[in-house]
Amino acid sequence: MTQPPSKRHSNRRLQTRIVRAEDQLAPGFESFAVPVTRASTVVFPDLATLRALDWRNDAQWRYGLHATPTSLTLAQRLAAIEGGNHALLQPSGLSAISNVYFGIVKAGDDVLIPDNVYSPNRDHAEWLAHDFGLTARYYDPMIGAGIADLIRPETKLIWLEAPGSVTMEVPDVQAITTVARARNVITAIDNTWSAGLAFRPFEHGVDISVQALTKYQSGGGDVLMGATITADKELHLKLKLARMRMGIGVSSDDCSLILRSLPSMKVRFEQHDRSALALARWLKTRSEIAAVLHPALPDCPGHEFFVRDFNGAGGLFSVVFDERYTPAQIDTFCESLELFSLGWSWGGAHSLAMPYDVASMRSASRWPYRGTLVRFYVGLEDEADLQADIERCLVALG
Ligand SMILES: *Cc1c(COP(=O)(O)O)cnc(C)c1O
Repeated sequence: MTQPPSKRHSNRRLQTRIVRAEDQLAPGFESFAVPVTRASTVVFPDLATLRALDWRNDAQWRYGLHATPTSLTLAQRLAAIEGGNHALLQPSGLSAISNVYFGIVKAGDDVLIPDNVYSPNRDHAEWLAHDFGLTARYYDPMIGAGIADLIRPETKLIWLEAPGSVTMEVPDVQAITTVARARNVITAIDNTWSAGLAFRPFEHGVDISVQALTKYQSGGGDVLMGATITADKELHLKLKLARMRMGIGVSSDDCSLILRSLPSMKVRFEQHDRSALALARWLKTRSEIAAVLHPALPDCPGHEFFVRDFNGAGGLFSVVFDERYTPAQIDTFCESLELFSLGWSWGGAHSLAMPYDVASMRSASRWPYRGTLVRFYVGLEDEADLQADIERCLVALG
């Protein structure tokens, strides 16, 4: 970067000139790639500018931890996709969840959490309840307006997940947020399943949306990041303050990887959606399968809310096997798949499968099935190959 005339160093000694290099680049370079601006120190022209900084002002550069042009570009693009006004980047999806807790609730407050919530969120809530004076209570994800009966004066936050990312129940988001608004309770949704593409939380009365950018936004299975997205400025500032105080930031290099994937996200999402829905429909015809839990299919609780509120489904759905198969047999089924790998996380090109013992994950609602649940993430492999792979392993089950 060229420095102002008063600070030119061409007459200094070599070591100083190396450190204070005066680059001679012609202006006017333009490309589609967002430049990677790595920085801890942000430099100010004078002390008056530095002293006048206001942390509430997102347009001011302050410190590399808080924002760089690369990270702010990503944040703005994510807010636009989700239909919000502000986004804060976090080092993981779970860190975004954590930021919601630390930004919104304090000791003595009560939080309501859907019983099918992403498990590390439940674990986080249990930790805060055990060590930090919070109350965490769980509700049946299909509770709808019945949430009103659970709200206490101390209730400050209601979590939603639409659908639950393992068991796929689709809640009546509008019914819950309407009650929450009337009772002055903030709502936060884990909107990772829809990538912010298929469900627009702020149009349904939600206050805070959380994305695990690790999934579709990254699309490569090689970056960890998360975001909290808000429409309301005051809420944004609450989250921003907590994030700042906890020293949370992200690397511009990681941001640039996600910026690179973002333009193809919707096209990828739609391809995942087509393959997953075709496989889900086919699995529905198989005698080995007791239920297909895909929000676009009628077996799935809350299917009517999916039809009402969503415009797509992506690659993630679950099936429940017939109860004649033991959990060990289903483990063998999962391990025998060649095109579905075993592993956490999803959103990339590679298909995954994972068995879950759902009953052990719940405390506030009854899980109606006795068979083992397997969650499929349908990647970008050819759909016919994926079906043949599953069919081979279903036949082997007997
Ligand atoms: C993966 C995931 C997260 C957490 O994201 P990480 O970046 O892995 O921490 C949160 N919620 C849902 C629904 C997820 O699938």
